[in-house]
Amino acid sequence: MMTSVCPSCGSGKLKYRDQYAACTSCEWAGSRDDVLAIALEADTPDAALAVALQVSQALLYILREKASHGVGQSIVAAGVCDVKDVQALTSLIKAGTLGAHKAILEEAERLGKAAQAAEKDGDN
Ligand SMILES: [Zn+2]
Repeated sequence: MMTSVCPSCGSGKLKYRDQYAACTSCEWAGSRDDVLAIALEADTPDAALAVALQVSQALLYILREKASHGVGQSIVAAGVCDVKDVQALTSLIKAGTLGAHKAILEEAERLGKAAQAAEKDGDN
């Protein structure tokens, strides 16, 4: 079972039309391909789904709060963007935190699957 979250705010409140998706929690709208997919176990109850969505949203919020400054400093220090180009720097910081959000959720999913597989191996 997969669920989808907004790539901008992490909310699970998405509406679809043809190949487009839009978030009802924030201003985001874009392609279905840009929606972030979260894999869940097939028998995940609604409560667990709600928790997964909350964790995703909290992670994105905390990343923005705590990591944006460091991401921005890294971008400027490496010479990717000049500190005076505020618009580009803001866009790059947003891309960095969104990328980290996606990478963390994907790695958490991989680790979860690996732990499940190890558990099954232990039963045999
Ligand atoms: Zn959103």
